[in-house]
Amino acid sequence: MDDEIHNSETPNSSCDSILQEIVQKLVYEALVWSSLHGLLVGDKQDQRSGEVPGVGLVHAPFALLPKSFPRSHWQQACELAPIFNELVDRVSLDGKFLQESLSRTKKVDTFTSRLLDIHSKMLEINKKEDIRLGLHRSDYMLDSQTKDLRQIELNTISSSFPGLSCLVGKLHKYLLNHYGNHLGLDSAQVPENTAVFQYAEALARAWKEFNNGRAVIMFVVQKEERNMYDQHWLSLTLKEKYGVMTIRKTLAEINADGRLLEDGTLIIDDQVVALVYFRAGYTPNDYPSESEWHARLLVEQSSAIKCPSISYHLAGTKKIQQELARDNVLERFLENKDDIAKLRKCFAGLWNLDNSNVIDNAVERPDLFVLKPQREGGGNNIYGEDMKEVLLKWKREGSDELSAYILMQRIFPAVSPSIMVRNGVIHQDNAISELGIYGAYLRNKDKVVLNDHSGYLMRTKVSSSNEGGVAAGFAVLDSVYLT
Ligand code: ADP
Ligand code: MG
Ligand code: MG
Repeated sequence: MDDEIHNSETPNSSCDSILQEIVQKLVYEALVWSSLHGLLVGDKQDQRSGEVPGVGLVHAPFALLPKSFPRSHWQQACELAPIFNELVDRVSLDGKFLQESLSRTKKVDTFTSRLLDIHSKMLEINKKEDIRLGLHRSDYMLDSQTKDLRQIELNTISSSFPGLSCLVGKLHKYLLNHYGNHLGLDSAQVPENTAVFQYAEALARAWKEFNNGRAVIMFVVQKEERNMYDQHWLSLTLKEKYGVMTIRKTLAEINADGRLLEDGTLIIDDQVVALVYFRAGYTPNDYPSESEWHARLLVEQSSAIKCPSISYHLAGTKKIQQELARDNVLERFLENKDDIAKLRKCFAGLWNLDNSNVIDNAVERPDLFVLKPQREGGGNNIYGEDMKEVLLKWKREGSDELSAYILMQRIFPAVSPSIMVRNGVIHQDNAISELGIYGAYLRNKDKVVLNDHSGYLMRTKVSSSNEGGVAAGFAVLDSVYLT
C-alpha cells in the first residue's frame, strides 16, 4: 500500500513535481535535524542498540508535517488532564473498588492477578502512600462523524515519549520556519511542547518532597530498550536542570541488588532511592521469572515514592476504564458536577462481556468495536473478523476468558494524506492520528503540589492499520497544527 517516493513514477504535472521536490528536500533536512538533536531510537538492525547508548542509532519514525487539529478540541483535551489526574488519585485510594472491579478478570488473567496480589498485600498491611506522583497520558481520537473527542485509554504507567514528542514539535517548527511560506503553513500554529520539562519538574518536585538530598531517582527499565533516548532525555533534564541524579535498573537487578532498611528505606548500590519511576513492568514480558515479581513487591513495600504505585497502575487498566464509564460510578469519586460531565463527554462506548446482547451486537457488526485485554504497549487488541471468531468461540464454550477483556466502541478519526518517514524511507499514505495529553499530579498528604496538563504526543499511522504504537512499529511521531 505504501508509496515510496523514491520509486514512484514521474509525477504527471509540474505542480506535483515541485511538491515532490520540496518533500525530498524537507525529508533530507528533517533527517539531518533529527540526527543532530537526538530525535533518535535504537536501530533494530543493530543487536547492541537496545543496551549500549550511542550504538546503532536511527531517527525516530516521524510525520514530515504536523497534523491539523481543531483548537477547541485541543483545549478540551488539555482541560481534561487535571480532572483525570484527580480521578486516578481518588480511585487509587479505594482498594475495595479496584479489587472488586477486577475480581473476575483476576480469575482468567494471570498478569492482572499478580498485580492484584501485590495490591492485596499492601491493603493487608494498611500501606499508605503519603507522597503520590502520577505521570499519566490520556489518549484521544477525534470521531470524524460526530466531531467529538473520544478517550481511547488512560496510561498511568510508563507513559512514553515525553522526550521525543517535544523534539518532533521542534522539528516541525524548524521546518515550517524555513519552508512554511512554500507550504502555506505557519510555525506559530504548532503549540509549544514542554512535556519533557514538565515531567522532569514533576519528578524533581516529588524527589524534593522526599527530602533527602543524597537520594536518587531510579528508572526501572527493560534490559533491552530501543526507546532509551526518550528516557535519557528525562534523566538528562533532571540532572542538568534540577541536579537530581538518576540510576537505571531492571527488575532483575532490583531483585538482586535492592534491599529495605527496617524503616522501609529502599537501598540499591548503597544509595537511597527517593523515587522509583517505572518505564518497565507494564507487560507480562517484563516478569519472566519470580525475581521480577519479587522486585516489584520490594519496591511497593518500600517507603520510596512509586510512579506509579500499584494502585495507580491498576487504576489505569482497561477494565477500570470500563467500570468508570458505567452510570453513577464517577460520582463515587468526584464531587464537581461539571468535572464529571466533562469526563463523561469524552467516554466512548465501553462494555463488559457478561451480557450476551453485547456479544451478539459485536458479532453482528465487528467493524464497529474493538476487543481489548488488560495489556499495555500496543498490538494486543482484537479487531474485525478475528474478534467475531473469538467471541463466538468463547460464547459457545461459555468461557471465562471473556472477563479478561472489555469491548469498546471503535472510533473512526478523519483520514488524511500524510508523509511518514521511517528508517530514512518516505511513505505517503492515508493516515489517522491519536492525540495524547500528558498529565502530572503530585501530592503530599493533603497538599496537592502539582496538577496540570503537561505537554502532548501526537501519533499518526496508516489508516489501514488497527493498532497505534510507535515503539510497536505501527505509528510515527507527529505534532499538532492548530486550526
Ligand atoms: P495500549 O495500552 O496497548 O496502547 P490502546 O487502548 O491504546 O492500548 O490500543 C492500542 C491502539 O489501538 C491505539 O493506539 C489505537 O490506535 C487503537 N485503538 C484502541 N482503541 C480504539 C478504539 N476504540 N477505536 C479505534 N482505535 C482504537
Ligand atoms: Mg496503554
Ligand atoms: Mg495506547
